[in-house]
Amino acid sequence: MQASGEPGDRRDAEEQPPLPRRVGGNLALDLANTFSFRGTAREVDHLATVEAVRRWAVAAGLIEDGWSPATDEARTLVATVHRLRRAVDATGAAIAHSEEPPAEALATIRDLAAGSLARATLAGVPAHLSFDGPDRIVGPVAWAALDLLRGSDLDRLKQCPPEDCHWLFIDRTKNGSRRWCEMATCGDKAKRRARRSGTG
Ligand SMILES: [Zn+2]
Repeated sequence: MQASGEPGDRRDAEEQPPLPRRVGGNLALDLANTFSFRGTAREVDHLATVEAVRRWAVAAGLIEDGWSPATDEARTLVATVHRLRRAVDATGAAIAHSEEPPAEALATIRDLAAGSLARATLAGVPAHLSFDGPDRIVGPVAWAALDLLRGSDLDRLKQCPPEDCHWLFIDRTKNGSRRWCEMATCGDKAKRRARRSGTG
């Protein structure tokens, strides 16, 4: 149960807004999907602070809850995560619409994957990559993006249609029928709109 209103008693934890659900089916897409109500007055950036990035990474299983970046790495971490997010978003959106991904975005993904790999430890059979410091968040996401771009899931990459959503996801339904990031949000909104206009 949550503590109730005692000043200073886990207040910070209670004030944390909920993280967006991870519905992308790929770690990099889940990073791209950390904006809500995009481009509107209600827009929310769920990863605006170091603490938000940290919480997202804990939820995604990249780091344990006790981990946080060194003070001098914290600001760079947020900036790098935002750069990677923009790159994945631009690349994914282009591919979902059968367009050529921007070269600059692809280069960002390549550079961040390469940088993290150069600093990583590779050991074991089968080999396991261990990232250190902020790379523990940036590395796996950049490599998830790279793997997605080079893999067969790419055919199933879609973008949720509403202008204020545009979340990216892999449609893993057998018949390729998934249209929405989530039925409970965008899907229901679209159904209600269709009902109001008498088309559904
Ligand atoms: Zn949506």
